[in-house]
Amino acid sequence: MSIYHDEVEIEDFEYDEDTETYYYPCPCGDKFQITKEELQSGEDVAKCPSCSLMVKVIYDIDEFLEEEEVIPLTTKVELQKA
Ligand SMILES: [Zn+2]
Repeated sequence: MSIYHDEVEIEDFEYDEDTETYYYPCPCGDKFQITKEELQSGEDVAKCPSCSLMVKVIYDIDEFLEEEEVIPLTTKVELQKA
């Protein structure tokens, strides 16, 4: 079932901030697409809605998880009197 047309690095995708979706041109004229959410859940297959082709996305999931994670900023400022 899963036959990849190609393997594409996430850097080569075009990111649309409004839809939070990554796009990559498909040979059929449409675009492969995968959402940021899918990437964060471990999905690495971008599909083209117009044909049956798909590409495997090469990316580092840790980078996406880090982005989503809310790191509590503990800004403790200790004032020391001289
Ligand atoms: Zn296509």
